[in-house]
Amino acid sequence: MLTIIIDTMIYQVFLSDMPKLTIGETRLETAEIYLSQTLSLDPLLHTLMHECLHIILEHTGHIKAAQDEGLIAALTSQFVALLRSNPLLLDWMLGKSIPAFEKKEFVADDHTTTAS
Ligand SMILES: [Zn+2]
Repeated sequence: MLTIIIDTMIYQVFLSDMPKLTIGETRLETAEIYLSQTLSLDPLLHTLMHECLHIILEHTGHIKAAQDEGLIAALTSQFVALLRSNPLLLDWMLGKSIPAFEKKEFVADDHTTTAS
């Protein structure tokens, strides 16, 4: 049984027969994520990440963004690619290693954001 923890909720993930053209769906009320059993592993991962991003945006009160399929699709593909392209970042997140940082003098310019 795969479960996904988001905030304080534990979502159960199920493979299922889905209606035509539906490959994933989340039921917030019951904390269930349904994924089409016809998907191969990589699309399955992307669909699960897609559903997780819907949930994260819902949980954080970004309701309009949570319903924006284009935004979710862009975030999903970029987030998966970010983690795959940067295994050291993932190792750091998981507490497996601490990255070696290089120091460089910072020079403020017109684009520098200051706290206010
Ligand atoms: Zn979606």
